[in-house]
Amino acid sequence: MSGVILVTGGGRGIGADVCRRAAALGYTVLVNYASNQNAADALVEEIRAAGGVAHAKQGDVGSESDILELFAAADELGQLVGLVNNAGVVDVSARVEDMSVDRLTRMFAINVTGSFLCAREAVKRMSTRHGGKGGAIVNLGSAASKLGSANQYVDYAASKGAIDTMTVGLALEVADEGIRVNAVRPGIIDTEIHASGGVPDRVASLTASLPMKRPGSADEVAKAIIWLLSEEASYTTGAILDVSGGRAILP
Ligand code: NAP
Repeated sequence: MSGVILVTGGGRGIGADVCRRAAALGYTVLVNYASNQNAADALVEEIRAAGGVAHAKQGDVGSESDILELFAAADELGQLVGLVNNAGVVDVSARVEDMSVDRLTRMFAINVTGSFLCAREAVKRMSTRHGGKGGAIVNLGSAASKLGSANQYVDYAASKGAIDTMTVGLALEVADEGIRVNAVRPGIIDTEIHASGGVPDRVASLTASLPMKRPGSADEVAKAIIWLLSEEASYTTGAILDVSGGRAILP
């Protein structure tokens, strides 16, 4: 495979496994991160040691200027062929009546506006309408969009609902311009995101309630993302793939 794949939030968790797999397939990978430079640098080193091509680039997807710099860095590396809108945040558990405007603004700026702006920049580069050669976008949704996450983070769940809708709308908008747009909707995946929401034992405490009685791994989600990015999924667009071990598979 050739061309550049940009993975937002690629330094850790699900994004890091997407970067590993994309690099192993021969893509040039741009690993975006927000603040954990050590994790991103270590990943780039690991990929290079395995013979792959990867570069790290700091940038907050909650900032339009950072996103523009991120895509400028991608342009330096070659032709963009794929975007994984993976960067996403949760917040500490709260009821809606206790949510501040600062919390809501951050949540939607990173999870929703950031994904839109990255998609905008990717479409400008990949759409045949703009002289591009086509490509693929994969968005990270969440089973939370169907569950609603009451008493925990309804704001996060709603931000992922926006991702579901954006996936369908954008897929139709660019379907005849060489770009496929899909999403994965992970369930409970064993990454550090749960600790960042102030519940480090969330995975362990939910395990017994999960249909498979185990959480998913980051790599199990990455495999689905890589398939959606690839030509193997050449007739798949606007799809929202539940990678949740059966959690929240019903509407
Ligand atoms: P994670 O382990 O917390 O990693 C998050 C990554 O996103 C990190 O690389 C982080 O950068 C980056 N990031 C955070 N805020 C950013 C920002 N403003 N700009 C750029 N990068 C930013 O998360 P994960 O569990 O892998 O989740 C990845 C995606 O899957 C998210 O969209 C999440 O909502 C979704 N998801 C996860 C689960 C789950 O159970 N884990 C379930 C459903 C959906 P630093 O390394 O610099 O901090």
